[in-house]
Amino acid sequence: MINPLLLYVHIPYCIHKCHYCDFNSHVRGQPDWQQYEQALLSELNHWANQPQFAGRELQSIFFGGGTPSLAPASLIKSVVVRASGLFRFCDGIEISLEANPGTMDQSRFSGFRGAGVNRLSIGVQSLDDTLLKWLERIHNRDQAVAAFKAAREAGFTNINLDLMYGLPDQTLEQWFKTLDEVITLGPEHLSCYQLTVEPHTKLAANFEKVAAQLPDDDLALEFLFETRERLAGVGYGSYEVSNFARKGFKCRHNDGYWLYRDYIGIGAGASGKWDLESGGDGGAARYTNIRNPEKYCDSALKEGRPVNSDEKLPKGTAEAEALWQGLRRTDGVSNRWFTARHGTDIQTRFGKELEPWLSQKKLVWEGDSLHLTDKGLPFADSIAEGLF
Ligand code: SF4
Repeated sequence: MINPLLLYVHIPYCIHKCHYCDFNSHVRGQPDWQQYEQALLSELNHWANQPQFAGRELQSIFFGGGTPSLAPASLIKSVVVRASGLFRFCDGIEISLEANPGTMDQSRFSGFRGAGVNRLSIGVQSLDDTLLKWLERIHNRDQAVAAFKAAREAGFTNINLDLMYGLPDQTLEQWFKTLDEVITLGPEHLSCYQLTVEPHTKLAANFEKVAAQLPDDDLALEFLFETRERLAGVGYGSYEVSNFARKGFKCRHNDGYWLYRDYIGIGAGASGKWDLESGGDGGAARYTNIRNPEKYCDSALKEGRPVNSDEKLPKGTAEAEALWQGLRRTDGVSNRWFTARHGTDIQTRFGKELEPWLSQKKLVWEGDSLHLTDKGLPFADSIAEGLF
């Protein structure tokens, strides 16, 4: 069974490293964009010639970062054009780019549209200047609103805004002030994530100073459920734990990850994954690239395969991973799909592990689909742990 293929392109540069950030992002005075573009193209050629990816249809391309909106539009165009020469594009292929307010104006948005980008994801995070400062973002509220308007003026009709809640001393009222204002702007899609303190970040090193200002478990749940209710009331359906969209606007690329589809990742620190069905044991393979941008470029330009590590996931791990990722989706996991992909049905494979959650109504079967209930949402990680 061949599943649709996704392409992720990582742009690792940022103007400033935010203290909470654990993405592979690097501050460089003047990135060597020409070299980075050549490295991306060289790596793309490499993967397009591998039997597991050759000749397949691409359903989406996603430029993530870092700050992809720092890249010249010519780089984005060159990757899109090369991809279209190496792969078949599905009808209406989704091509997304992450943009940060503070790096954007209308002419840059127009440039990206001209390069083939048809979906934008703007990293707004908050419309509260005090909180934006705390996050160490380089933009303020007015720039965030201006970026959204400029994107519309440039012709984008599919825009996501990224938001964060659970910030220090943030009340529900403060959060709703941002959320309501964002709703008024009318984006097609919203991603609302709770701030998490990731290991090895500056924030983690200073954790003791902020711990008491962060929401406790009860308040965090209130943020989650009140957000879902508020958004549902104004037409944004939840299709994943933290993602909401107007009808027809869910992010096909990210949904593809949760559907355990194959993906190629190119760029510093990117990773790729494919199913090992034909000739394999039903497991999956994954690679992760060199994280440092300069070392990545050296290796991609010399060998076309700038991989830092390769991993083979045995069948059992791939099954657990597919179920865990699928359970993030509001529609849950289709048993028919799972059986076709893994050669065993969900109940036979995971009946013992799932039973306590089903009897507590944290998971339910609805027709062919297994999904989390509202009651089960806060337990998604604990459910996942039991699967591996
Ligand atoms: S802009 Fe985004 S990717 Fe860059 S440092 Fe801040 S959080 Fe990380």
